[in-house]
Amino acid sequence: MSLSVRPKVYSLPSYSLTGDLLGFLRCGLQYRYTRIGKLPASRPVQQWFGEFIHGVLEEAFRRYHESVRKGVPSLPPWPVSELDDIRKLIKDRLAARGLRAWAPDLEQLGDDRAAAAVQELGPLLFPLIHRAEVRVTGARLLPPIASHLQFREADRYEMVGVVDVVTHVQLATPGLAGNPIVKGVRAALGGNVPPEFELIIDYKGMRRPPVAKATAKHSLWTQYEWQLQTYGGLRQKQADALQVVAGVLLYVNELHPTRSDLKLLKDEIVTGTTDVAPVPGSPDDIAIRAWRSSQPLPQLTLGYRLARALRIVPISAASVQQAELAFDAVVKDIETCRGREEYGTSLLNAWDRNPSEESTCVVCDSRTYCPDYQTNYAAQQGELTPRLPAKKI
Ligand code: SF4
Repeated sequence: MSLSVRPKVYSLPSYSLTGDLLGFLRCGLQYRYTRIGKLPASRPVQQWFGEFIHGVLEEAFRRYHESVRKGVPSLPPWPVSELDDIRKLIKDRLAARGLRAWAPDLEQLGDDRAAAAVQELGPLLFPLIHRAEVRVTGARLLPPIASHLQFREADRYEMVGVVDVVTHVQLATPGLAGNPIVKGVRAALGGNVPPEFELIIDYKGMRRPPVAKATAKHSLWTQYEWQLQTYGGLRQKQADALQVVAGVLLYVNELHPTRSDLKLLKDEIVTGTTDVAPVPGSPDDIAIRAWRSSQPLPQLTLGYRLARALRIVPISAASVQQAELAFDAVVKDIETCRGREEYGTSLLNAWDRNPSEESTCVVCDSRTYCPDYQTNYAAQQGELTPRLPAKKI
């Protein structure tokens, strides 16, 4: 009697749009250690910032929504005591997971940015929100990798993501047509919007990056656009979705810029690498050009800070398809690295490294043994490569 052989387990690989794909694009080796290997970061400053701002905005919206449900809508700005209460609640939640701000000045910056986000952006954003933290999923064909690196049975992969905010906009609603976010979307789409539509919004705890140069491959500018497009495509298939006309990236740091942010902005205005420069001769233009780093920061207008904070990306079937193909290509790269590792190549050689962003490398826990860090940045950071003591003869 012949016994049948149990077939290999068929498991669908799952790739999240931010954690996996954007993480791998930032640097494959860092992604291998922190995401796949689950090595916690020794200085998770950026993680604290991102999660703190997300948490504060989510809690603030929950409180606003609750006030609407009770029939007494209360939009920000709110008293400082209410804001303090929200910030403390979120800090306590993060601290319970071991996430802290690490330094008092960083915590103060987080507090200030959270205040700007709730008190200045909240009144414009909260009335538009339909749902927050919306999970989106889909399945796509797994791109084939070189046959000698094949290590899976699966022929598809799962694409997952969480949209921070889904808005429903009915232009007939009194007051909405004049909302700066809605006005920005109508301008970006040339006024060509249906009477009812949906926007997907993603918060980014960072400043607005300079516009990608035409030659730059996989720049942050392009990557975040792919993220919005793919979110838009997945969201569009859900039952309660209206027509998704655009995605909005919300660069929270622009609401409360620091000295280094303003210095970078000045440089980008001079080199013409920002797409949102102040109107020449406007108060913002004069204030930025006259500012010297030894002086106090100028108070930029809310209109200009909001224009820099919002990046509106029109979404169409064609643009979604293009972004999905780009993400397939990244999945193929990740699978190829996994295949190399699976067949015995060392981690340092199996995984693609990306030393192009100094700010990523200088906080990377792999920098002490990463050859690219040693070549590009160790000397200028005053860090010497660890060496074994020389042998005395
Ligand atoms: S130091 Fe830079 S190149 Fe090296 S692993 Fe870290 S992020 Fe990647």
